[in-house]
Amino acid sequence: MPDTVRAPDGTPVNAVRGFLDIITRLVTTYRPTHLVACWDDDWRPQWRVDLIPTYKTHRVAEVTAVGPDIEVVPDPLEVQVPIIRRTLETLGIPIVGAAEHEADDVIGTLATRATLPVDIITGDRDLFQLVDDASDVRVIYTARGMSNLEIVTDATVVAKYGVLPTQYADFATLRGDSSDGLPGVAGIGEKTAATLLTAHGDLAGIIAAAEAGAGMSAGIQSKILAGLPYLAVAPTVVEVVKGLDLPGTESRLRALDDARRADAASLAEQWALGTAMTRIVDALDAAGAR
Ligand code: MN
Ligand code: MN
Repeated sequence: MPDTVRAPDGTPVNAVRGFLDIITRLVTTYRPTHLVACWDDDWRPQWRVDLIPTYKTHRVAEVTAVGPDIEVVPDPLEVQVPIIRRTLETLGIPIVGAAEHEADDVIGTLATRATLPVDIITGDRDLFQLVDDASDVRVIYTARGMSNLEIVTDATVVAKYGVLPTQYADFATLRGDSSDGLPGVAGIGEKTAATLLTAHGDLAGIIAAAEAGAGMSAGIQSKILAGLPYLAVAPTVVEVVKGLDLPGTESRLRALDDARRADAASLAEQWALGTAMTRIVDALDAAGAR
């Protein structure tokens, strides 16, 4: 939604309304019984940067690209984050984050310990490493927009990349990912990474084969050997954490009680959320009744 969508006081609310619409759409389409909003309490943890100094560096540059004579205009997304948090609270949708960890790690932990089927809603392909048909963990991938949602299962990952979800983190480590400032092994692209993983199983198998000088060309072998210092640290950066110590969270969807309903109505008025709020309240009512 364009940031001309504003509340009476001029605050942009396009992201708030868009976010509410997305949740309404997902709850109505996929009919979950539980819902959690996983938060980047730290979008670029220092321990990941310490291992790979370029990790997400270009995004810091984007954020701080303000010269001395440039007036600092409040970021139109950032000003909406507290409103989004407040709205989720009112709707009874828990926000879960963890200090020094990304939302990816919260998702990894919750998806791994869940006893129910899990749909991970994300536009971040890093999370493909969590896909697991056997435990009913899927990704609903939003990168192509909400009208082009893609359900990612084991077969989808195999069809896209030629590796299993359990191999995806090693695959991403080898290939690298410019969107996260992850260099990858120089000279190893997607195709070679997939071929190597198919032949040798995992990163440890590839490294062992390179050191033994068996099962790969001399050219590939020298690239892997040259990449060993990177390969020693990158997997820890790429693999999402699955064992965070998170508090128990009541995440079952339920109809709003009268107090929450009144609060939602006043938020809708203050922030001009209009039918976006009405629709999500209705969707939660329906979910709570199931
Ligand atoms: Mn990520
Ligand atoms: Mn990513």
